[in-house]
Amino acid sequence: MTAMNAVSPAQAEAVANNVQVHKFGGSSLADAFCYRRVARILTEFSGASDIAVVSAAGDTTNRILAIIDAKQQQGDAATILLDQLERYQQGLITDLLSGDLAQQLMQWSQQDFARWRRWLAGEETIERKPELLAYGELWSARLLAALLRKQGMRADHIDARDFLLADDAPEPLIRVQPSRQALLERVAPHPGTRFIITGFIARDPEGHSLILGRNGSDYSATLVGSLLDVKQVTIWKDVAGVYSADPRKVERVVSLPSLDWHEAEELARLGSPVLHPRTFQPVDRERMIISVRSSLKVENQQTRIGQYENTEPRGKVLTSLADVALFRVELADKALIDAINELELTPLVRWTEPENQHEYLAFHQNHVEFLNRWFAAAPGSEHVQQIHGYSLVALVGNRIQETDEFATFKRQLGEQRVKRFGFSPDGNSAIAILEQTLDNRLLNRLHSQLFTYRRSLGVLVVGRGNIGSEWLKLFNQQRDRINQMMDVRVIGICNSTRLWLDYSGVELNGWQDSFERLARPYVMSELIRELPNAPYDELVMMDLTDAIAVAQQYPSFFANGMHIIAANKRAGSADEPLYREIRTIQREYKREWLYNTTVGAGLPLNYAINDLRNSGDEIRSISGIFSGTLSWLFENFNETTKFSDLVLEAKKRGYSEPDPREDLSCRDLIRKLLILAREIGLSLDWKDVEVTSLVPEHLQQIPLAEFLQRVDELDEPIQQRYAKAKAAENVPRLLASFSVDENNRVRAKVGVEDIPEGDMLANLIPGENIFVIYTDWYSEMPLVISGPGAGKQVTAGGVQSDLNQLLSKLAAQQ
Ligand code: ADP
Ligand code: ASP
Ligand code: MG
Repeated sequence: MTAMNAVSPAQAEAVANNVQVHKFGGSSLADAFCYRRVARILTEFSGASDIAVVSAAGDTTNRILAIIDAKQQQGDAATILLDQLERYQQGLITDLLSGDLAQQLMQWSQQDFARWRRWLAGEETIERKPELLAYGELWSARLLAALLRKQGMRADHIDARDFLLADDAPEPLIRVQPSRQALLERVAPHPGTRFIITGFIARDPEGHSLILGRNGSDYSATLVGSLLDVKQVTIWKDVAGVYSADPRKVERVVSLPSLDWHEAEELARLGSPVLHPRTFQPVDRERMIISVRSSLKVENQQTRIGQYENTEPRGKVLTSLADVALFRVELADKALIDAINELELTPLVRWTEPENQHEYLAFHQNHVEFLNRWFAAAPGSEHVQQIHGYSLVALVGNRIQETDEFATFKRQLGEQRVKRFGFSPDGNSAIAILEQTLDNRLLNRLHSQLFTYRRSLGVLVVGRGNIGSEWLKLFNQQRDRINQMMDVRVIGICNSTRLWLDYSGVELNGWQDSFERLARPYVMSELIRELPNAPYDELVMMDLTDAIAVAQQYPSFFANGMHIIAANKRAGSADEPLYREIRTIQREYKREWLYNTTVGAGLPLNYAINDLRNSGDEIRSISGIFSGTLSWLFENFNETTKFSDLVLEAKKRGYSEPDPREDLSCRDLIRKLLILAREIGLSLDWKDVEVTSLVPEHLQQIPLAEFLQRVDELDEPIQQRYAKAKAAENVPRLLASFSVDENNRVRAKVGVEDIPEGDMLANLIPGENIFVIYTDWYSEMPLVISGPGAGKQVTAGGVQSDLNQLLSKLAAQQ
């Protein structure tokens, strides 16, 4: 052992705090396309010093096993299989790399295959299977590191046999200290380099290769994570986490947002391929979180494995082994039983049938080869018999016996030929050994009886002002009705500086007081990255602010899996480039974005527009008075009032924005216009809108206080305008409009226009909004929607309507 002097404790700590481990299985690296996707995942979802642990590409391990097998046979099968493997591996290199990198990798590959051929020809002996198997992982680690380098990242590969030391056993025993030291020495001096480490393999003290068992790279990943004491390991699979059953066998499985350690461990122990049985062995459960996530569809739900054991017990996963290895031992042979008690391999289940004088042991098929050898060498081997034709089916969940699902499971199995029914030692699964092979029909039937799972939605409320408070009140009143559709909970409330977060759902009665007590300073970008930890099927961020800072984070919210309900106009009316970015990311991650209240508050404007369009109509123009503030100002304005007094009054009553120039400059109106136009698919930007502001240029940039002092400078021009209009029996109103002509040219404008005194636009209740919509069908007479276009109650109602719509959309996706 070398002395631990190369790596200081501070360096080790830096690794622990800054590095995350990612694991990519064979199915995530099956072809060149998959490799590129993995490289993209590493660019987007990993830090510069993160580590990736990789399996062999695609089914390389199986191909190697087949070659080893074929070598025992006569004929040229082994050569044919080896040629195929070489073409596959070298095809990956030529597809992915070019220039020097390709040449280098190709040269290594040719050397490796030359060695394989010598071995096949009997010119070189490679005695141990693990040494041959190790090539699979070595090739993928080498290739992925090269691909990352090609893409401009600093990356290197590590052969795990260079640091991971273990003693040979059916489940190799890791020597933790020397392994940790060697790994740290290799990794710690190179922050800013992504290391790609081979999964599945280790070495013994003599330097021989060892393997960690089929699918062992999950275990390698948590081992590496634990040796370095990191906080997060992400296991990227071809499935988006752990489901209620194997999605390859069972229809309509549901994904599980979270699993407790014990549940995950039990599932792995029972041989589910989704996690290697030893995955959790090395893990510091206080510190580490493990996520299982899809590398094929990164936007999909993922499963977090952590400390969630206090949640209500529920049967969560149905797992099975179609063909379990069952051994029957004669109880009378005490010596044999004693020897079995010392066996290094723990059976999946073990029981005795004293009436027949038998003991039974069930194992995973993976261990049969070892067991046959072991029993053959054991004393009294004639008293052991492997019996065939049995299967295992189990239901996993903490405190399984207390769950409704368990009762159903037991009842349903009553109809089957059950050899043995029991529980795992820690009570986290109910296990049945069936005296029959298992078909997917039975699994599907069991699954559909067991899981009528109600999905969950976590809501983060950003903004606790008027609308936020009003919506929380409304939601609290309507919770029971909403919860019939989905388990919806508010998991956090924040304002611009402080956040109150509680993943089990915040208590809404008296939330203001709790917020004062419990809210803590936070950083929005960190919160967004943390939120996917919330154990919910779906998450939604409700933006009930007017903040540009929140709007700028929409891409990040979407990319981290959140839907958005917004009363904030800033994103919907952002400049084209930002707007397009938000839309692109939203689409890419398949998230919903609802913003019905950004125009006309609670008025059912978007419903009318979308319904018409979905039914085949085309919107030709929308015009009207879209601003409650401006409606109030103009409807109250006449010869006897001063416009500036009305502006001050509106500000005092809270009808206007804190800086009334937001309204008077028509910025707010333009926002609404852009949102409406974009909603019907037009591409419209700020520069395309003709605007005449009510604020003369010299008042635009001065401080608010000064503006308020000089506000009467607005009066003169508007007074004149009023008098001129009046002379023609008109009144001035601030209108917004856009129209589309036959050639799809858009014209948009905002400004004061003269309206005949009798027109409906001239006779609104102060504060009322009106939208006049012409379409192909409503071409003679317009469709008119009018009513209050602001106010906390109607706006909160509109937000609630968006939530309902989100729930229906999510239900339809199931
Ligand atoms: P890797 O890419 O790491 O090699 P595997 O293919 O070995 O991944 O394991 C993932 C497979 O596990 C999935 O494709 C799925 O068919 C299977 N599986 C079995 N049970 C489950 C379950 N409950 N949830 C998710 N996947 C499961
Ligand atoms: N390549 C190995 C196997 O196929 C290890 C792994 O995939 O995790 O079993
Ligand atoms: Mg695998």
